Amino acid sequence: MTLTPRETEHYDQVGDGTVRCRVCPRTCVVPEGERGVCGVRENRDGRLYLTSYGRAVSTSIDPIEKKPLFHVAPGADVLSVATKGCNLQCDFCQNYRIAIEYEDVPEHERPPAELAGRIEVGDADGLAYTYTEPTIFMEYALDTMRASPDDALQVFVSNGYMRPETVDTLAPHLDAINVDIKGDREFYREHAGVPDPEPIFETVERFAERDVHVEVTNLVIPGENDDETSLRERMAWIAEDVGTETPVHVSRFHPDYKLTDVPPTPIETIERAMEIATEVGLEYVYSGNVPGHESESTYCPGCGRLLIERKGFAVRSIDLEDGACPQCGREIPIVGSPHGPSDGRRRRAF
Ligand SMILES: [Zn+2]
Repeated sequence: MTLTPRETEHYDQVGDGTVRCRVCPRTCVVPEGERGVCGVRENRDGRLYLTSYGRAVSTSIDPIEKKPLFHVAPGADVLSVATKGCNLQCDFCQNYRIAIEYEDVPEHERPPAELAGRIEVGDADGLAYTYTEPTIFMEYALDTMRASPDDALQVFVSNGYMRPETVDTLAPHLDAINVDIKGDREFYREHAGVPDPEPIFETVERFAERDVHVEVTNLVIPGENDDETSLRERMAWIAEDVGTETPVHVSRFHPDYKLTDVPPTPIETIERAMEIATEVGLEYVYSGNVPGHESESTYCPGCGRLLIERKGFAVRSIDLEDGACPQCGREIPIVGSPHGPSDGRRRRAF
């Protein structure tokens, strides 16, 4: 079977066979025969198609902790789906071989029904659209969500660079999203090719308003986005505009792609950033890419009790009573029921 590209619903005709894509804030104007910045949305005879529809470059089964999503069915497994392409071009991209320089990467035909079938037979508890930017393959993701069992977890791991109407299309189908907030305006311009990051912040707030569980990741890069002022601004915005119960992952940078002359983030910087996050009122602050650090675990903001013990992506123990701290009764925001201890290992799906 050969899958045909799927026409998208999210574009406008702008005359002479040219179309304007409506999915992300770039709103690329695409003449016939050409593609948008993302590299996968193509104008064929005056209609916009998703060329990567049903063509996965990555399908593995991951612990949901790896996304990272720490407050979504702890211990659950998700089938991770990615296609080629991205609407950002971050010079530090850890997945640039599938997101940016993907010419030679093999694609595998995985129609939505096949992915959903894996959930149906119990191979995983849900689906994660991840590794590259799922916004640009949203029709593939949405068709997979619609084909899936009702109780399957559906999560996005996203750069947040999407338009409000895209948020509104996705929100009713999503349980959770992790959005990577990379830095301030200057950082986005210099390192990600984004002229104005404001739509990203709006995406986070809009999903939260629509009752989609939101977690935020901030990759801290030495000398680029680790100054005290910008860290404090970022964390204060999360606390004030998204909520103090928003789980935040302060993630350690490792040199990759074009940013290889910058050293890995010192652990002290990660710890300082976490302190700042706590100082501005955030209640669930985690480190990322620092395996074995005590901040991988969840502690009760009310009494300090260890509630979910993690090591790397493994869940060692879960100590909650009806979603609350057994010691002080504080309710802990968790989406989906806890699955219990897990080994944190990645598995092949196909
Ligand atoms: Zn407590």
